Amino acid sequence: MKFITYQYNAFKEGGILNTDSTKVIPLKTLGKLLNTSLPEQLTDFIEIASPDLIDKVKKTLSEHPELGISTQQIRLLAPIPQPKRNIFCLGKNYAEHAKEIKNIPTLVDLPENPIYFSKLPTAVTGPNTVVLSHPNTTKQVDYEVELAIIIGKAGSDIPKTDAEDYIFGYTIANDITARDLQKKHAQWYKGKSLDTFCPLGPAIIHKSDLPLPLALDIRSRVNGELRQHSNTSQMIFDIPSIISDLSQGLTLLPGDIILTGTPAGVGFAMNPPQFLKRGDIIEAEIESLGILQNTIE
Ligand code: MG
Repeated sequence: MKFITYQYNAFKEGGILNTDSTKVIPLKTLGKLLNTSLPEQLTDFIEIASPDLIDKVKKTLSEHPELGISTQQIRLLAPIPQPKRNIFCLGKNYAEHAKEIKNIPTLVDLPENPIYFSKLPTAVTGPNTVVLSHPNTTKQVDYEVELAIIIGKAGSDIPKTDAEDYIFGYTIANDITARDLQKKHAQWYKGKSLDTFCPLGPAIIHKSDLPLPLALDIRSRVNGELRQHSNTSQMIFDIPSIISDLSQGLTLLPGDIILTGTPAGVGFAMNPPQFLKRGDIIEAEIESLGILQNTIE
């Protein structure tokens, strides 16, 4: 099941795509079919999405293939347009990428423990939107395709073996970065948090469609040119390890977003370095999750 947030006429609401993604069934319509009231927004739905409710939703969808609004009539938004908390991120979680960016401060060759940082929730933007180049603030805007985990249940001190129970699903993120700010401030927070620096989407795939361990092709293209290409099986810290480690002494909440790091091939590590410029089209693609496309403005 692919969950989306979209605009239809004046409404911004959550829904589920049909099998060929030609139609979306609004969550509120599903609620009526289930004789219950479901939240209109996807972030609120994630908080109540028990395995039992997900089973009922799946069954109801299969019984009503005729229902839905044509996806031609909607505008896709980020599936979680306004995260309630900062977005958790991992740095250097693919070995080949760790090797290519040695000259960023605070980086060692290969991390023995996950490297965490965060992005402001206000950096989130949707698919098919512009990413601002902020020419007065940075000259070095770069892309990073990443698999994003969406947390579905509150928990702390989560054992690796239970990690999957705490996941709602997965989507694509582009961890857009101002390399000059990242270097200048030593802390990465600002260089990673400029407005529009976290494209997210197009949809959240429910975990029941992608059981762990994930081995998904992951790639990015700039103006059609392949820049990054790896597989999520190449992560140094895998998904259960990340959830278990991050949740030690720290309560993860439904709707939390965790970016799991980017593979090699960022523009900063090219010779000579290549940064994004106005008019560039970036595509972040992950097998089974789709393509997240944005244009630099
Ligand atoms: Mg990153």
